[in-house]
Amino acid sequence: MSHIAFIGLGNMGGPMAANLAKAGHQVRVFDLVPAAVAHAVEAGASAAKDAVDALTAAEVVITMLPASRHVEGLFLGDNGILSHIPAGALVIDCSTIAPATARKVADAAAARGLSMIDAPVSGGTAGAAAGTLTFIVGGDDASFERAKPVLSAMGKNLFHVGASGAGQVAKLCNNMALGAIMAVTGEAIALGVAHGLDPKVLSQMMAVSTSRSWATEVCNPWPGVLENAPASRGYSGGFGNDLMLKDLGLAAEAAMSVGASIPLGELARNLYAMNSQAGNGKLDFSSVVKLVSGEK
Ligand code: NAD
Repeated sequence: MSHIAFIGLGNMGGPMAANLAKAGHQVRVFDLVPAAVAHAVEAGASAAKDAVDALTAAEVVITMLPASRHVEGLFLGDNGILSHIPAGALVIDCSTIAPATARKVADAAAARGLSMIDAPVSGGTAGAAAGTLTFIVGGDDASFERAKPVLSAMGKNLFHVGASGAGQVAKLCNNMALGAIMAVTGEAIALGVAHGLDPKVLSQMMAVSTSRSWATEVCNPWPGVLENAPASRGYSGGFGNDLMLKDLGLAAEAAMSVGASIPLGELARNLYAMNSQAGNGKLDFSSVVKLVSGEK
């Protein structure tokens, strides 16, 4: 059992903190949204009055925030938490952020004698709730070993992919592929429907054929095909379109920094930007299908 500070209780962080409490850890939580804190308390965590208060007695500090600026602001900004973290604590940032920001915050932590790893996740809100996330870790071997028991309470696949920042690079590679696959899956189903096909039957066929993917089998973008997919509940409660747009922007920056070509990744980034401009930024990213389905 560890004393864990958990900051950022949104669609992902909420269920992750709940799973840590369920596994017997002492979890002290904070989020800017009081309702998110109340939810975590119902799941067995204790409420902190602010981020610094959450750090009381912490042996492990976990953050799950939207983007680079939130992580940099929380750790290094005015009254940043870095200088309040108890000596010897392990810091784990699970947010998806720029690799350069991950390295910057980890270097600042190291300068204070603290170990920090980047551990972005894959598996979506369903994986967070079920405790079956994949963790993609960048950092040193000793920190990865220390993190394992805590990460195992929230996920089932742990990958150590390299030094600080490498977890973020690998995560961006995954999400760039996912963004393109989701967009083309939506296009394929819209094409079939325009020809009078049943989207359910078409999806069932694709799910056992050569185009099979998570986008078809788990998070199908067409409403009514999968009862538990965001598309069947008005695209609510999944992985936000604007978070996917953020990740594709980070992938574009990462590509430019090494001169890599990502033609489909760039095209996908523009599709999610168009979907955001259409007013769907807060909806699940599978709502990108609306650009081609005619649904408003
Ligand atoms: P979210 O917007 O639902 O939650 C983020 C939470 O952080 C919010 O509750 C917000 O109030 C809180 N927050 C922001 N700044 C804060 C601060 N300074 N102090 C305390 N709380 C603060 O986002 P999410 O869907 O949970 O995603 C979190 C991260 O995980 C993102 O980087 C995202 O890209 C990544 N991710 C999301 C999914 C998914 O399916 N939703 C999947 C994999 C990875």
